[in-house]
Amino acid sequence: PNLAIGELLLQAAAKYPANEALFFFGKRTTYKELLAAAQRMAAGLQAAGVGKGDRVAVMLPNCPQAVIAYFGVLLAGGVVVMTNPLYVERELEHQLRDSGASVIVTLDMLYPRLARVRGDTPESGPVPQLRKVIVTSIQDGLPFPKNLLYPVKQRRAGKQPQIPYGKDGVTRFASFMAKAPKLPAEVAPDPERDIALLQYTGGTTGTAKGVMLTHRNLIANAAQCEAWFYRVQEGKERFLAALPLFHVFGLTVIMNFSVLKAGSIVLLPRFEIEAVLKAIRDEKPSIFPGAPTMYVALLNHPEAKKYDLSSIKACISGSAPLPLEVQTQFEAVTGGRLIEGYGLTEAAPVTHANPIWTKRKIGTIGLPLPGTLAKVVDLETGETLPPGEIGELLVKGPQVMQGYWNKPEATAAALQEGWLRTGDLAQIDGDGFFTIVDRIKDIIIAGGFNIYPREVEEVLYEHPGVKEAAVIGLKDAYRGETVKAFVVLRKDVNVSSMQLDRWCRERLAVFKVPHVYEFRSELPMTMIGKVLRRKLQEDEELAAA
Ligand code: ATP
Repeated sequence: PNLAIGELLLQAAAKYPANEALFFFGKRTTYKELLAAAQRMAAGLQAAGVGKGDRVAVMLPNCPQAVIAYFGVLLAGGVVVMTNPLYVERELEHQLRDSGASVIVTLDMLYPRLARVRGDTPESGPVPQLRKVIVTSIQDGLPFPKNLLYPVKQRRAGKQPQIPYGKDGVTRFASFMAKAPKLPAEVAPDPERDIALLQYTGGTTGTAKGVMLTHRNLIANAAQCEAWFYRVQEGKERFLAALPLFHVFGLTVIMNFSVLKAGSIVLLPRFEIEAVLKAIRDEKPSIFPGAPTMYVALLNHPEAKKYDLSSIKACISGSAPLPLEVQTQFEAVTGGRLIEGYGLTEAAPVTHANPIWTKRKIGTIGLPLPGTLAKVVDLETGETLPPGEIGELLVKGPQVMQGYWNKPEATAAALQEGWLRTGDLAQIDGDGFFTIVDRIKDIIIAGGFNIYPREVEEVLYEHPGVKEAAVIGLKDAYRGETVKAFVVLRKDVNVSSMQLDRWCRERLAVFKVPHVYEFRSELPMTMIGKVLRRKLQEDEELAAA
């Protein structure tokens, strides 16, 4: 539908005012209440000078305030800048400066970091345009269980952040809402043109860039997911929000999708496996979008079988490859369907998924979603490749971004005649199913041979003693690069690098076999559980220097 996102909420609230929109640790919010709160937020933002196109940062873990702020900004005509609550000062400063946000909505526990970025005199600090800071807290009726507070380190130290309310534009969320008019002025965004969201790329491969997504981009992707799931019942589904809503996957496939279907969202502020199991048992969500690591964690929990997980009907896994055993075991435990999909921030994010109810192909990312075109092209010539050949995956569709914020060169490199270059290597089979081979940037070239780290990682993962593995290229004077593997072993097992070497030699051509192994107790991960190969690469470079 060609609507603005705020209209989705207006529609759901008009049709199902008494339905539960949000559930958060015992606190239920109906659609009527959510709309009223979002409208107040919007009116307050307008009174604070936020108008069409103005950026407002939202730095919150999953909680009702995050959803209220998101819809509030959009109803005010503004642009949401979702900000990861785990960002350190450097990342936060980059995002606030780059986006030019004039207001931020955040949580008291996160305030000290923001204050350090703003400096002692915010008007002359690095982000002078940030005029208003709206701070929410447990006192605002956010019933965070104690062990789920952000950030954990601070809680351990038992410190309560000092917040200078009334100074430097800092306001309490509750008083901001109380003072705000009830209804905002109508803004009527143009869904095709107006940016609704500036979403910064995960940054697993470099500096975060702001991806410009219009109302239409976001709604199209929620509608494409709906068409793909097709058994989603209006006003009846419950979505489990274990994924963060500040990441575009959760934002679209949970928040927008749920509101599009007048569903309800079970909000979890942090991925914590026991809370997930309890939420499934008690709140009976039917749809659980997630990342592979979440499903793995659930299956690995010793007491998972004691919980009734049978409410789960459909799960879509994205952001990283989904191992086969995880898929089959998860389906056996829940009785629901778990399928693998694929996407990227630049496509709001989903472009491919396996069919949920009909024939799927394990190990593939499935088919392009309705309305999405996809092709695999030669890296050098740009020619479309036939099935079976490996090249770059390009996609085109209503969910594809308008470009990168203030980065015309990067935009021109990524978008050509509406086709988005994904930066991923893929292959298409005779039935039209796509498989991701690896990221182009991560290919290792050793002695003239191309090595896909993912292929080597998969072989390591198959070893019964290996819990996690990541493979990178090391600079090598003779071969250009050589392969290094980082391995996390399962608890209480002992595997030597010699044994892993033998394992790999039996399963891989010799040029792909890692030359160096490093055992670690854990691997650096992104918020949604993607291994950060770039971080490992940086560690190596630092060590070499
Ligand atoms: P950056 O783009 O800055 O490097 P990021 O990778 O975290 O950061 P996202 O947009 O969050 O950015 O992730 C998109 C990428 O995730 C895709 O380009 C692809 O490499 C990977 N990905 C997503 N789904 C899958 C999948 N099912 N299998 C393999 N890789 C996937």
